[in-house]
Amino acid sequence: MASSPKNKDFRSNSLDPGLGFSWWELRGWLGELDALVVGGGLVGMTAALHMKTQRPKGRIVIIDRQPLGGGGSTRNAGFACFGSPSELAEDILTLGEARTAELVAMRWRGLQELRHSWGDEALGYQASGSVELFTNSELQRQVEALLPRLNELLTPVLGESPFHFASQGSLPGIQKGAGLVTSPCEGLLDTAKTIQTMRRALVERDIPFLPGLPMTSLESGDRGWRIGTPSGVLESRQVLLATNALAAQWLDLDVQPVDNHVLVSAPLPELTLTHTVHHDRGYVYARRVEDRLLIGGGRQWGLDARGVVEALTAWAQTHLHAGFTPSHHWVGTLGVGQERWPIVDSPARGLHVGVRMGGMGVAIGSLVGRQLAELALGE
Ligand SMILES: Cc1cc2nc3c(=O)[nH]c(=O)nc-3n(C[C@H](O)[C@H](O)[C@H](O)COP(=O)(O)OP(=O)(O)OC[C@H]3O[C@@H](n4cnc5c(N)ncnc54)[C@H](O)[C@@H]3O)c2cc1C
Repeated sequence: MASSPKNKDFRSNSLDPGLGFSWWELRGWLGELDALVVGGGLVGMTAALHMKTQRPKGRIVIIDRQPLGGGGSTRNAGFACFGSPSELAEDILTLGEARTAELVAMRWRGLQELRHSWGDEALGYQASGSVELFTNSELQRQVEALLPRLNELLTPVLGESPFHFASQGSLPGIQKGAGLVTSPCEGLLDTAKTIQTMRRALVERDIPFLPGLPMTSLESGDRGWRIGTPSGVLESRQVLLATNALAAQWLDLDVQPVDNHVLVSAPLPELTLTHTVHHDRGYVYARRVEDRLLIGGGRQWGLDARGVVEALTAWAQTHLHAGFTPSHHWVGTLGVGQERWPIVDSPARGLHVGVRMGGMGVAIGSLVGRQLAELALGE
């Protein structure tokens, strides 16, 4: 006699073995979750680690839609930055002086927390200093007029006066720029080392990280939240949404995904650049990576992908190194909105969100991750 499933909605009895998690998977690490972190970037990993430190017995899992388990956090340029002068001038227009200073303070605190948590060696951190290179005399004039006020606002935050004019030819590796403003406060880190350090900590602290598993639905359920994935439904008392650029798929939030291109040159043995380089409100950025030059951004030019690559190449050749030839190119996604202030909120019981790093999440991401965890822990 042919048998048929008695209850077609009873997934563990399904005839399709592709649907539903196994008893072992649920029993071992996916069932009875205290917290499900959606998004395994800097924010999601920091939040999960902080929760686990505070509640060692809590059952926490991270899922990420990407097979490599990373968004901006594995594809960024590694600037430990808090805002270039022209970027901060723009922030003052949208946020006002006091909130701009507070935003810089949050980035600075985030960077200190990151360095304190992992140590500079594990992050590949170097205190490089930065330079903003101007080619537009109007923008330069505006920033020069604002600089004394910016220094006054940010000296208490950073512990020293952050911005200084520099003369042409005074900085190694800068070929041509109409004006230069330097800062000793900025640093660089090695993105690969940083991510690997954090992922090792997830393993050590028994936090499963499941890349290639997207959240496809989110609804409240008996045990808190029901999260659909292509492999089955997860249930968790709390959900921490750390999906940055893609958060508006789930909640009514002002955050949009924006592509950002990065190029790395072939080796340039005579490269002398030491500082990180910013240009045009942070839209163009460059640094040294070993004996190569990295340059990225260019979205303000409004060009297609090929046009951005050509324009970034020409910019690097003119201002940094005539021999710049791209040998590697990738695209990552930023999460941006009308302003650069991050969103950290609890839109519903058991649902917490920490997103919109404004294209500068390396420094602020640790702080936002901890704040996200604290929202969940404090509920
Ligand atoms: C090219 C580039 C260069 C950058 N350079 C710098 C820099 O030099 N300095 C700096 O401070 N910042 C930089 N940034 C920004 C920085 O990388 C980000 O602000 C930061 O990494 C954001 O961290 P996050 O954890 O919020 O988001 P992400 O690292 O983007 O992580 C979000 C994760 O959520 C996952 N996700 C989304 N939707 C779902 C879903 N439905 N289900 C499961 N998972 C989902 C994504 O796959 C992603 O891995 C750069 C970004 C880019 C793209």
